[in-house]
Amino acid sequence: MKKGLAILGSTGSIGKQTLEVVSVFPSSLTVVALAAKDEVELIVEQIKKFSPKIVAVATEEVKQKVEQKLGATKVQLFVGREGLTKVATELSARMVVVAIPGSLALSATIEAVRAKKDIALATKEVLVAAGEIFMREIKTAGVKIFPIDSEHSAIAQCLKGEDPKTIKKIVITASGGPFFKTPVEKFATLTAKEALNHPIWKMGPKITIDSATLMNKGFEVIEAHHLFGLDYSKIEVIIHPQSTIHSFVEFVDGSIKAQLGAPDMRIPIQYALLEDSRFANHWNQLSFAKLAKLEFLQPDRLKFPCLEYAYEAGKKGGTLPAVLNAANEEAVKLFLRGQINFAELPQKIKAAMERHQNKENPTLEDILEADKITRQKPTTLIP
Ligand code: MG
Repeated sequence: MKKGLAILGSTGSIGKQTLEVVSVFPSSLTVVALAAKDEVELIVEQIKKFSPKIVAVATEEVKQKVEQKLGATKVQLFVGREGLTKVATELSARMVVVAIPGSLALSATIEAVRAKKDIALATKEVLVAAGEIFMREIKTAGVKIFPIDSEHSAIAQCLKGEDPKTIKKIVITASGGPFFKTPVEKFATLTAKEALNHPIWKMGPKITIDSATLMNKGFEVIEAHHLFGLDYSKIEVIIHPQSTIHSFVEFVDGSIKAQLGAPDMRIPIQYALLEDSRFANHWNQLSFAKLAKLEFLQPDRLKFPCLEYAYEAGKKGGTLPAVLNAANEEAVKLFLRGQINFAELPQKIKAAMERHQNKENPTLEDILEADKITRQKPTTLIP
């Protein structure tokens, strides 16, 4: 039987690649619900090609534009938060692909889990801001979670058939981003355009900036902590500019497993959608003949303090990781608009973390509140 998919964020980078994977495996996968923001042309194209039952868009205005372009159709259109919930809990969906940014993803993903959907998770905010709550909900609902991130997919693949108790440590690889070799004195003059020029991966602007600051890697550390139930002392980060090895797992007996592959997100997406089964495809392949060398370097945590802030927020827990996430998102927006420079970006995050009164064992409401307050007061972002 075909597996019904609901995709939250179908017009984003991960959403589009998810649909590419679906097109290649039509006998295994089918799209039953889509949620997207406001890219009318693309939404209409996706509806025509994949015939979902329901689609959610951001606003009534977008809905009307989609209806006009679409003409007569059986698809049901919904808007806003309510629409997102409908897509996340659509009856005929067995798996929900979560690839929308921000706190919107948080509530929608919890709703999907409570509706007993398996989750293919691309949105980092979910585990970063509410990891404990989310993993508890997953356990209670008895559903499965499949990471859509090359690093976590790599770790999950290395851990297949292994006893988690035998893990000595995991090592998450980072490309280092575009400024890895740039002298720190130049950080104050770096622009968004330079930061958006990622050497290896093609991604959306937010995650590309997060890669440049290493915050993306910090988020991945927090995600790995929750996904694999590992203490932070067992999670390391190493710079690997070629992005060929997606992560390592070292075991107590000294054996190390690594997962390698071309830097092509369709590979981990396929692995998640098809639940760890392997099928042939035509995505980019890794050529050992073309690999000149593999380098590994320690990350400079003074130069890239965001990585340090993520470890700190993760270890302290409570509402602090939600503040880290919200402050980062707001600071990235300021940077993309040219209102702050690259050196100021981590300072804004640190200031927000320092001002926050951390709350232990938070509820989802506490987390959403901490997120809201951090975003509402841009002044708290100014040191
Ligand atoms: Mg990644």
